Amino acid sequence: MKALKKRIRNIPDFPIKGIQFKDITTLLSDPASYQRAIDLMAHRHFQKGVEAVVGIEARGFVMGAAMAYKLGIGVILVRKAGKLPHKTVAAEYTLEYGKDRLEIHEDAVRPGMKVVVADDVLATGGTVSAVVDLLKRQGAVVVECCFLAELTDLRGREKLKGQKVFSLLKFRD
Ligand code: AMP
Repeated sequence: MKALKKRIRNIPDFPIKGIQFKDITTLLSDPASYQRAIDLMAHRHFQKGVEAVVGIEARGFVMGAAMAYKLGIGVILVRKAGKLPHKTVAAEYTLEYGKDRLEIHEDAVRPGMKVVVADDVLATGGTVSAVVDLLKRQGAVVVECCFLAELTDLRGREKLKGQKVFSLLKFRD
């Protein structure tokens, strides 16, 4: 896991002062690291009845789509406002740096559907908790929220009480 951690580049003060930005592009562009990370994130969900992976725009797509492919299941896109063409339902959320709104197609999940949510980084947890609320409102069963990396000092997990959370790599800042 140390080798994977080393593949993530830290960019201080991006996009604003005080943020330690975890740049995952350096891990993604290394074939062995990307494959290993996806294998480890996907493997835990083999044959557990998960029906789809929900990827959060944009880096969550890079994790979520590859996991879904590996698991032989579908991928559902949660996108920034205004990007999805059909009727949507929305969630407002607060980022480590700013506010935003995410949307999902209103018919993307069925009541009772078992899904795993995937994103690159768990920071404050604002994004993913908004997505979990949205999915639950639509009747989905969120089996787990799965991240490549977690910034543990930001305590995002505390926003996800009662929710199973997995992160492959942990950073203190
Ligand atoms: P949060 O809602 O604070 O958990 O933020 C999570 C989302 O913002 C994820 O989709 C990340 O891609 C991005 N993000 C937030 N903070 C960082 C960070 N320090 N480094 C990299 N990505 C981040």
